[in-house]
Amino acid sequence: MDSIYVAQCDVGRGVFAGKDFAAWEEILRFSGPSISFADTLAKGEDAANPLQVGDDEYLDIGAPGVLVNHSCAPNAGIIEDRVLVALRPIARGEEIRYDYSTTMWEDCWTMDCLCGSARCRGVVRDFPTLPAEIQAEYLRLGVVQGYIVRRLQAAAPTSGASRAQGWS
Ligand SMILES: [Zn+2]
Repeated sequence: MDSIYVAQCDVGRGVFAGKDFAAWEEILRFSGPSISFADTLAKGEDAANPLQVGDDEYLDIGAPGVLVNHSCAPNAGIIEDRVLVALRPIARGEEIRYDYSTTMWEDCWTMDCLCGSARCRGVVRDFPTLPAEIQAEYLRLGVVQGYIVRRLQAAAPTSGASRAQGWS
């Protein structure tokens, strides 16, 4: 795959743009065997690698997808639970990062963040812990995993219908 490549970055290995990407252009598609939360815990130090796509469903993703790093000010996001797209134009040679909190709601895992952005939250946590305006921004962009959107709607049934329209 020439459109992206893996290289060293300030936090280890990362995924970089091998070409210029337009906003909303597909960068990569996460794929892998479907596994459960218990399966992820059994992976030990790699427990945080699988991508959560359902209440108890994860994709056991491999490289290069698993090497995409986190940023609190990301240039990419995940749509349709597994398609990484550019959130703005990305120039060839730029590292591609998404916000891990847009995929996380399991009351289990946190990560100290070294992303260095002005918006850095310091610790990466589950989606509901994000400041309300950041949650709203990601929901407006449509880059929040579907199971998280469904849980939020279930928690706010009276306004769920109208808000769901705004998210599409
Ligand atoms: Zn950060």
